[in-house]
Amino acid sequence: MTDLQQRVEQLLASHEPTTTGPADFLGAQFDAGLAWVHFPEGRGGLSLARGRQLEVDALLEAARAPRPDVARNSIGLGMAAPTLLAYGSEELQQRHLRSLFACTEIWCQLFSEPGAGSDLAAVATRAVPDGDEWVIDGQKVWTSGAHGADFAILLARTDTSVPKHAGMTYFVVDMTDPGIEVRPLRQITGEAEFNEVFLAGVRVHDGNRVGAVGQGWTVATTTLNNERVAIGAGTHPAQAGQGRPARPRHARPAPQRPRAAGGPPRELTERA
Ligand SMILES: Cc1cc2nc3c(=O)[nH]c(=O)nc-3n(C[C@H](O)[C@H](O)[C@H](O)COP(=O)(O)OP(=O)(O)OC[C@H]3O[C@@H](n4cnc5c(N)ncnc54)[C@H](O)[C@@H]3O)c2cc1C
Repeated sequence: MTDLQQRVEQLLASHEPTTTGPADFLGAQFDAGLAWVHFPEGRGGLSLARGRQLEVDALLEAARAPRPDVARNSIGLGMAAPTLLAYGSEELQQRHLRSLFACTEIWCQLFSEPGAGSDLAAVATRAVPDGDEWVIDGQKVWTSGAHGADFAILLARTDTSVPKHAGMTYFVVDMTDPGIEVRPLRQITGEAEFNEVFLAGVRVHDGNRVGAVGQGWTVATTTLNNERVAIGAGTHPAQAGQGRPARPRHARPAPQRPRAAGGPPRELTERA
């Protein structure tokens, strides 16, 4: 048995996989360095080769252990996490990576705007410094899952005097800020998976900046490169073609809590 297999066995021994709640199990998986084995120790990983995660996932799958809710948190897991690891401060990594993996934090992506889609560097949402905070005003669109998100990764313009790719900065935004309004975009199917998001006087502490001021384009391309990886891995909504959250390739039905008298079954992945 390899060291990695031993670690998985220890995790399964200390957290019975079929009875431990998803958040507890996934938190323990993160602490054991088995969330993303290619991440550093203390950040959910063991600094191993990325491909070795497959060994971990296969063993956990076989044990019917809770898995991250990729359908709801694909942007957090596939895009925000690797970007925070690459450019986020120590504090941001400590604050978010574990809860993001445990899916007690759901994330969305505030990049696209009515005038900035293919030409993402045209973003017009402004972030203006005010002491140790930034004040953000603007509008985003096509924001998948914004209606259920706790946090967002956001690209905003912080300097209009330089060429457009040089004038952007990347932030983590708390979606419960009172200046944020989420308006659903109703599709012809009747579903509303995407949203318009309006930001009016949203105050973001400078500690929520990811990367340097003006480095937003570089940070954003890191996010977008990781989005491609997530799509390739089958863990991104875009894979379903219509924004419908895709299930991981080896997905199995979510375990159900016992049905309350007369009530519908509740998924174990449901947030408290
Ligand atoms: C399923 C889905 C989920 C999404 N979720 C999110 C999300 O969560 N967060 C987020 O920020 N965004 C999201 N988006 C938005 C997505 O990033 C944009 O749709 C994308 O960047 C394209 O922008 P647009 O829709 O404004 O199209 P446009 O940029 O208006 O492009 C329209 C058409 O014109 C073409 N075109 C554009 N410019 C040129 C040019 N210079 N020369 C030739 N052809 C051109 C394009 O190829 C395209 O065919 C999502 C989109 C989809 C489809």
